[in-house]
Amino acid sequence: MSTQNRAEAVIDLNAIEANIKLLMAKSGKPALAVVKADAYGHGLIPVAQRALKAGATWLGVALLDEAIALRESGINAPILAWLTPITDDFSSALENEIDIAIPSIAHLEVLLEAAEKNKKVPRIHLEVDTGMSRGGALLEWDELIHKARTAEKNGSLKVIGIWSHFARADEPGHEFNLQQRETFERAVASARSLGINPEVVHLSNSAATINDSDSHFDLIRLGIAMYGLSPDIKTMGGSRELGLIPALTLRARLHLVKDVPAGSKVGYGGTAETKVDTKLGIVAMGYADGVPRNATSEVGVLVGNKMSPIIGRVSMDQFVVDLGKESQARAGDWAFLFGSLIGNDKGDSYTSDNCYTADSWATACGTINYEIVTRIGPRVKRIYID
Ligand SMILES: *Cc1c(COP(=O)(O)O)cnc(C)c1O
Repeated sequence: MSTQNRAEAVIDLNAIEANIKLLMAKSGKPALAVVKADAYGHGLIPVAQRALKAGATWLGVALLDEAIALRESGINAPILAWLTPITDDFSSALENEIDIAIPSIAHLEVLLEAAEKNKKVPRIHLEVDTGMSRGGALLEWDELIHKARTAEKNGSLKVIGIWSHFARADEPGHEFNLQQRETFERAVASARSLGINPEVVHLSNSAATINDSDSHFDLIRLGIAMYGLSPDIKTMGGSRELGLIPALTLRARLHLVKDVPAGSKVGYGGTAETKVDTKLGIVAMGYADGVPRNATSEVGVLVGNKMSPIIGRVSMDQFVVDLGKESQARAGDWAFLFGSLIGNDKGDSYTSDNCYTADSWATACGTINYEIVTRIGPRVKRIYID
């Protein structure tokens, strides 16, 4: 492993494979691996390749550019892109055989225009809004499916999928989930009654995959759980309770280690002060790298098997931790923020009791683990364990 990087996200592809296999085995359904946002910060191409090797048969992304990057890497599996503003270059989607989510008549019309120009037959997934009021057609649904069916009869498109998205799947048993599923089933039935016969009907994200087998339909869309993180630690438990292995370990070098006396103010604003004589570690990673500026002393790093809390404000490129007076840490040592490979490079087992986790970072920063991993910046080198 390189010793030249100041900061690394070490991604264990074996963990991603194990997580996908577990979730597919439990649901018994084919899986679409969600690799948007650079595979939740884990690296688009290596994760997509490994997800397919693990048995996922579909890939899902938000952006068309993400889908095209996958094609350019040589991936042939079906790819669905679901956040394509009508100003996108749909010709490139058609050339690359990207499936496009259609949430409105406007999207359908723009895509059909591009298809006519390029003499292609687009593959679409009709998206229905079942209660989240974000993506998908709501009042337009009936008109949308009529128009789609007419175009399909003319041979101008193929309806590959019908799908929607849950707002509260991380609250197992909440009646809103049942309402969404029933609305979804009615929307699918309306489409079928017109003669639309999709290959795949899909609704479940990670949380619904784990909590609600009635919502699996033909395909599960696996996001956060395939990366080994829990969709919601409060309602569903953490990685360990779910049998998942966090795939990403985040670490940075100690730039400095130094003794300071009691009463030393630390960082911008002098917001923290050492209570006793102690040793501080300056960690070479900051908010420009995705370490939230509002992180508190509830979290920190593991150095030499010792949990060392943050002291003072996180800066752009660095933050300070309290190593304790007796610490043997030296400048250049790794400081581990979170992950399964903490403490060594070989993959010792994950114990959340004696180290910080993406979940404890999220809690300390008032956010969710999704944001902790996706915001790791481009200056942090991605390293792969294969
Ligand atoms: C991000 C996303 C997912 C995955 O969600 P997780 O909660 O990470 O499993 C699934 N479907 C759609 C449409 C998404 O945008």
